[in-house]
Amino acid sequence: MFRLSPQRLLSLSPRSGESYIMQSVRGIQTPRKHEGKVALVTASSDGIGLAIARRLAQDGARVLLSSRKQQNVDKAVQELKKEGLNVEGTVCHVGKNEDRVKLVNTAVQKFGGVDILVSNAAVNPFVGNILDSTDEVWEKILDVNVKATFLLVKLVVPKMQERGGGSIVIVSSASGFTPFPSLGPYSVSKTALLGLTKALAPELAPLNIRVNCLAPGLIRTNFSSAFWKNESVLDQIKIKVGISRVGEPEECAGAVSFLCSPDATYITGETLVVSGGAYSRL
Ligand code: NAP
Repeated sequence: MFRLSPQRLLSLSPRSGESYIMQSVRGIQTPRKHEGKVALVTASSDGIGLAIARRLAQDGARVLLSSRKQQNVDKAVQELKKEGLNVEGTVCHVGKNEDRVKLVNTAVQKFGGVDILVSNAAVNPFVGNILDSTDEVWEKILDVNVKATFLLVKLVVPKMQERGGGSIVIVSSASGFTPFPSLGPYSVSKTALLGLTKALAPELAPLNIRVNCLAPGLIRTNFSSAFWKNESVLDQIKIKVGISRVGEPEECAGAVSFLCSPDATYITGETLVVSGGAYSRL
């Protein structure tokens, strides 16, 4: 394990001119890691998106929340404002071009730019055998989950360039590696997001924009309630998931905050799996 030598501990910290030991004795806090940054999080009025928005704001960012329904956005913004967090909200159905444009423009108007994008929105209109899925199902899933993610990235890149760089996190799923039974088209769209992350990262690296991906396993939200409310699925989880319980949205939020932070400046094009060890056992 890396340890500072006694000489180093007694030496002066380059920042404050005070020894490292004195800093720790006085309990000096390191600056919040997203201080001064502006973050956009899609689908953030509930579930994983709301937890990510809250965490980025707790870590110092000014955060623009968004989802399709005004009343959901208002409720989430009110909740986070009550916690003393610096957030605003706007309606954005990620599948609509005018909403995506409005989302980015609102961030610029309210907060002065964009440093962080978390593309979290996804739909799943189909459960069943993949051969029973229709043209309409595929169109909707690919439109919202994949195409809208790319088009939003395209809109924020120039705004990030104006600020000297930025960080993008795309929310995929562990099902992108191993398709979940009955969720074929959705799983394939999540595999596409793993590819999109890999395709974007090298092109955006010279612009000082990092692109990473989050692949959650089963997380306790409305979206996945059919799974975790089902006793037999829960029993399977206990067998298949190393940490034998369902994950919580907050357990995804810390991972996203890390990927966007100065602690991750040499990480791009990667996917962080947050699945309690399920992926390694599938
Ligand atoms: P959730 O709890 O159901 O939250 C859904 C959020 O998305 C709400 O804020 C909803 O608000 C918004 N929304 C839905 N459709 C939208 C659209 N077209 N445009 C913008 N906002 C939209 O879902 P979640 O479980 O947190 O899922 C978030 C992400 O994690 C998704 O990408 C999902 O695929 C991924 N994921 C989830 C799990 C899991 O087990 N929960 C596992 C792997 C991956 P409105 O109704 O107001 O739009």
